[in-house]
Amino acid sequence: MSGPPGAGKSTALLALDRHHPDLSRFGVRDYGLRLAAAGHPLGLAMREALLRQELLSNELVRLEFAHFLDQLSTEVGLVVLEGYPRDLPQCDDLLRTALDWGVRVTGFVVVTVPDDVARSRVANRRLCTGCGATTAGPEAAACPACGGAMVRRRDDTAVGFARRLADYHAIVDDLRAYFGERAMLREVDGTRPADEVRAAIRDALYAEDTVSLPPAVR
Ligand SMILES: [Zn+2]
Repeated sequence: MSGPPGAGKSTALLALDRHHPDLSRFGVRDYGLRLAAAGHPLGLAMREALLRQELLSNELVRLEFAHFLDQLSTEVGLVVLEGYPRDLPQCDDLLRTALDWGVRVTGFVVVTVPDDVARSRVANRRLCTGCGATTAGPEAAACPACGGAMVRRRDDTAVGFARRLADYHAIVDDLRAYFGERAMLREVDGTRPADEVRAAIRDALYAEDTVSLPPAVR
């Protein structure tokens, strides 16, 4: 799954997490830091680069993803990948690893919004320190869902936004072409209201031909 910052991916996934217990998420950074915290050699090998926000070698990411699949509970019916794959060799790695593990990867979901829409959303949004919910405007002092304090996301500065947007643009055309050629590309219009975006993402993820992990596999 991909999209520029401010496309509504995190908000939608947070809501989907709550309603779909069979959904699991793989984030290169989050999973790597978890492995590092657990003292796993692979996590320790990635730790420094992750903390410095540097890119990991494709080999490390490949091993990390294989480790994730290895640990996956049989309850999981669908995995959403975030921040992976991020180049064409990683796309090949992903499909090969999935094949090795008997896992189907059939959908690449891109949530699109124009750059100026993304920029103003990110400048205005606030994040709940309690439950992770995001609000569109800066006016709420407390989270409407849990009452937690609302703050700016640490990387929602103009510089942080520009860096993440450039990063997205640098890779998304390649990924679109790669998955488009394989009839695996699913685009979601992120300019629609949040509940419609959420429904469109859910439909894209749970479309009949995108169910990626038959329960019997692992
Ligand atoms: Zn909250």
